Amino acid sequence: MAEQPADSMPADQDDSIVLYEASEGIAWITMNRPRYNNAQNGRMTYLLDAAFKRAVADDEVKVIVLKGEGKHFSAGHDIGTPGRDVHLSQERTSMWYDHANKEGGEYLYVREAEAYLGMCRRWRDIPKPTIAAVQGACIAGGLMLAWVCDLIVATDDAYFSDPVVRMGIPGVEYFAHPYELNPRIAKEFLFTGNKMGAERAYQMGMVNQISTRETLLDDVTALAEKIATMPRLGLALTKQAINNVEDLQGKRTGMEAAFAWHHFAHAHNDLVSGDKLGGFDAKAMAKANKEQGK
Ligand code: ZN
Repeated sequence: MAEQPADSMPADQDDSIVLYEASEGIAWITMNRPRYNNAQNGRMTYLLDAAFKRAVADDEVKVIVLKGEGKHFSAGHDIGTPGRDVHLSQERTSMWYDHANKEGGEYLYVREAEAYLGMCRRWRDIPKPTIAAVQGACIAGGLMLAWVCDLIVATDDAYFSDPVVRMGIPGVEYFAHPYELNPRIAKEFLFTGNKMGAERAYQMGMVNQISTRETLLDDVTALAEKIATMPRLGLALTKQAINNVEDLQGKRTGMEAAFAWHHFAHAHNDLVSGDKLGGFDAKAMAKANKEQGK
């Protein structure tokens, strides 16, 4: 990948917003837009996809770690940085067609079917164990990136939230909330948009281990090294077996229905306000969250 430092060129052309490195059986994939709290634009999404593919293809890699550079793991999907590139075509990786020249509901439905729901489900089914190393904020689209990983290690100051109900939308595209939390807590999480701290997320079983800013990478390395001593096929089959149970319990079909409602909400917003996000960009969201006192 390119060597340029982050932010030295427009983020919609910059390959250094995702870094890849592999050593001693562990692939480290790093979101590298610290200036924008690793807000995930389209470029980043497709670079993450390429990085995951690279890690899967490398027989030396037993465990894959996803982390974020800087103060925060991820502020979510890019809804307001200068590198926002939702309108651009990408080198697609599924059988979906290009969204960029489409109108109405088709535009966002096609984009999110490939880049959000499609990719997240594919990443969740990567046949190697994945660990998310989360510090600071893990908001909305950031949740999707942590949740697709098999294990989550979070710093004691990490927090999780999905405030997109404020946009009139029932949660992020990868609707795993009732599985990551129980249904009643998932409702509280979505109805209020409140931040959930690492400790409660740990109690709910969403987080495997709590660490600190100082020890996060060491703790993740120790966990990954331990897993890496297991045989590759044993790990892949175990992961498949557990993911299959989740799907038999309705995770996949539930997510499909939620994705349809999510897009009804995008279309409704467009009809009544002319904006698919109900008039909220990153700034307006941050302001509204602050006013609500979270
Ligand atoms: Zn959406």
